[in-house]
Amino acid sequence: MNNKHSTCGFSTRAIHHGYDPKDHHGALVPPIYLSATFAFPTVEYGAACFAGEASGHFYTRISNPTLALLESRMATLEGGEAAVAFSSGMGAIAATFWTLLRPGDEVIVSQTLYGCTFALLHHGIGEFGIKVRHVDLTDLAALQAALSPATRMIYCETPANPNLRLIDIAAVARLAHQQPNVTVVVDNTYCTPYLQRPLELGADVVVHSATKYLSGHGDITAGIAVSNQALAQRIRLQGLKDLTGAVMSPQDASLLMRGLKTLALRMDRHCSNAQALAEALQVHPAVESVIYPGLRSFPQYELATRQMKLPGGMIAFELKGGIETGRRFMNALQLFTRAVSLGDAESLAQHPASMTHSTYTPEQLAQHGISEGLVRLSVGLEDVADLLADVDQALAKCARASVRKAAMAPSAVR
Ligand SMILES: *Cc1c(COP(=O)(O)O)cnc(C)c1O
Repeated sequence: MNNKHSTCGFSTRAIHHGYDPKDHHGALVPPIYLSATFAFPTVEYGAACFAGEASGHFYTRISNPTLALLESRMATLEGGEAAVAFSSGMGAIAATFWTLLRPGDEVIVSQTLYGCTFALLHHGIGEFGIKVRHVDLTDLAALQAALSPATRMIYCETPANPNLRLIDIAAVARLAHQQPNVTVVVDNTYCTPYLQRPLELGADVVVHSATKYLSGHGDITAGIAVSNQALAQRIRLQGLKDLTGAVMSPQDASLLMRGLKTLALRMDRHCSNAQALAEALQVHPAVESVIYPGLRSFPQYELATRQMKLPGGMIAFELKGGIETGRRFMNALQLFTRAVSLGDAESLAQHPASMTHSTYTPEQLAQHGISEGLVRLSVGLEDVADLLADVDQALAKCARASVRKAAMAPSAVR
């Protein structure tokens, strides 16, 4: 593999790492190897490949030249030694869990997790004799108390979804590594390596839903795990090859590499658009509160500036007036798309109380830190003036509605 750009900056590596057109008939864009299987020159060479002694490709579920190029780019961008590509973020997370955990082991996870990761823990590995403990990882004393000789993994997301709470990765990793055999796994989907590099802060494995910012265009599902060479090899040969089979397609790897070329540019724009929106929301009379790591009012502002290069493209905010106002705001949006997922060019809005978490009772919502008026925005790449205008007109509609409701309430009593 061509590594002449290994000392270059983030964007240069995202565009060039591991590839030289002169090795590929001058093709500027890396070719897509669609082959499922690969020819062995001799039986002996084939035997060496199967024994892991030769590094050739032999079957795409295990390795493929297009996937290998993508993997080497993700490894250098995250500051890791190696990466493994998957067909979805859940593929990467499931393969990491199944590879690293065995019956009798304990895994400590943060309180707020992506919904399907929560389901995998409780309906998946939790039913195979692995103990799952939810701990508030912002409380290091609570983490210390929860660690036991059986602890094999600490797993977290930072910022968390949808409340954007941060976890101090360096502090958690320091504590975890006082004990041997504890692997710290961080889901870095919300930040991407452009904003936050958990491995440099002491984590052992980074997992991604590359469906989101990394690909950036909402047209593939993909996942990545990044770590040192030895862990990546185990995740590849157990979690990917045997336990999940969740291999990324070479076409998707090509689309993902196209996305990576503009990652830094896109993240800068996501962040500046989000900052402007968060500041506008914060002073709007219809808004109760805004949660955004780039605001001085953010409870962990100092940690955000220390751990993240920029505050990210996700905003959560609370409307005055509860679930009805939240619904009205959502339905009044014209440029923002009502949709789950995040990290696309298109700005997306979702209202957990009436969408992803609509089956929760008010008590369960409160327990998970999701209030009824909470709206989550994935701020896209559109012109910021248009985004501000859309949010403004939608807020004006729900504010007028709540004023009308207040005015009508006394007359209803009369
Ligand atoms: C979307 C997402 C996942 C799951 O990824 P898929 O690509 O949808 O399988 C995991 N973690 C986070 C934080 C996500 O946002």
